[in-house]
Amino acid sequence: MERIKGNQIRQDLAELQATERLSREDLLRLQTDKLRKLLLHSVTHVPFYREYAHLKPLIETKPGEALTHFPILTKDIVRENFDRLVADNANRESLILNRTGGSTGQPVLFYIDRHTVEYYEAARWRGLSWWDIHIGDPCVMIWGSPIELNRQQLKRQRLKDRFLKNQVFIPSFDLRKEKIKEYLDLIDDFHPVYLFGWASALRLFADFMLEEKRSLKRPIKAVLNTAETLHPGDREVIEQAFRCPVINEYGARDGGLLAYQCPSGNMHINVETAWIEVGDMLTKELVSLGEKGLVIVTDLNNYSMPRLRYQLGDVISLSDDQCSCGRELPLIKTLDGRENDTFVTKDGAYVNGQFFTNLARILPTVRQFQVVQHSRTEMTLRLLEHDQLAQEDVDHFVNVILEKMGDVEVHVKRVSEIERQASGKLRTSIREFPL
Ligand SMILES: [Zn+2]
Repeated sequence: MERIKGNQIRQDLAELQATERLSREDLLRLQTDKLRKLLLHSVTHVPFYREYAHLKPLIETKPGEALTHFPILTKDIVRENFDRLVADNANRESLILNRTGGSTGQPVLFYIDRHTVEYYEAARWRGLSWWDIHIGDPCVMIWGSPIELNRQQLKRQRLKDRFLKNQVFIPSFDLRKEKIKEYLDLIDDFHPVYLFGWASALRLFADFMLEEKRSLKRPIKAVLNTAETLHPGDREVIEQAFRCPVINEYGARDGGLLAYQCPSGNMHINVETAWIEVGDMLTKELVSLGEKGLVIVTDLNNYSMPRLRYQLGDVISLSDDQCSCGRELPLIKTLDGRENDTFVTKDGAYVNGQFFTNLARILPTVRQFQVVQHSRTEMTLRLLEHDQLAQEDVDHFVNVILEKMGDVEVHVKRVSEIERQASGKLRTSIREFPL
């Protein structure tokens, strides 16, 4: 791929492996330099940002402060200004049209260029290298199907994955027990160095393996969780079943690869790829360090269609702690799922979706659930029906919801399946109305 397509991943990786050794001060300087360059480019070449050209002097001296004068980009703004966000000097023919999975409403379309994509990949390889996993190591991906591909394209994609990338793909849609068994045989035949997938799919594999007392024939180095919030309960079960650590990665199709977990357990931000701000859930004013809020991302490498201060929809908090692993890349303190995973009680307090997940953990017969908040006074609790599901656990679940959320109506539904998003992801908590 390097020779034929001019792929630069290894070059980018070498660069990232050099910068990760920098002190935090030097890392932040490097990040600030990248931001300055991007902002100057944006006010010069991007029609949507031209009206901010008067900020040039501030951009030159204090790019971080200048950035706060730009509007926060919501998905709607991107949709409405799609063409005006493309740089006038971008090579339109080489742009790749990408889209979000659309797990929360309408998908967003955006352009990205090949080098930006390669840079994300290089950042992933850097994170994996912390776990002694390297380019070309055999990998099994348990993943939602690439939505845009037709059958023929999918077949070609799979061959390419298998022979160029040493990757085998398992679709995460139809994970019945018989299927999981088949897939485990496939994994054993291929003997990967690591697995890569969505927490909810990995969890189904892990549950099956523990139930059947089955383990992989050959040990693997790690299981990599991406694109879904990794709940502590899932981590434990997956680690137990696969007998290896679970690595957490934080990124988004429309935000890039933002952070990677190191072997000391902390999420290090890729400052070479992203500038991250955290804004209040309601007012979007920037919050102080350590406080939870909406993550606002500026991708530092995408010059084709720069999206400054893009509101991703996740809730996080940052930390200025140092990690014991020695890397000085700054840390994310907490990853709290999606903004609309967060519920609001009758009197206006926030309840993070994680609360329900933690609750479900202590109820031994609850296997899978989903809580939906329709309004401040009405909720639905869906529980996966199975022989052992105890009424006692169901009642306890409801009582704790009532305690936490106040006087709300809770509809309990025992269901044979909890529906996944179009993307194949499983969401455990969904708020259906805006804050
Ligand atoms: Zn670390």
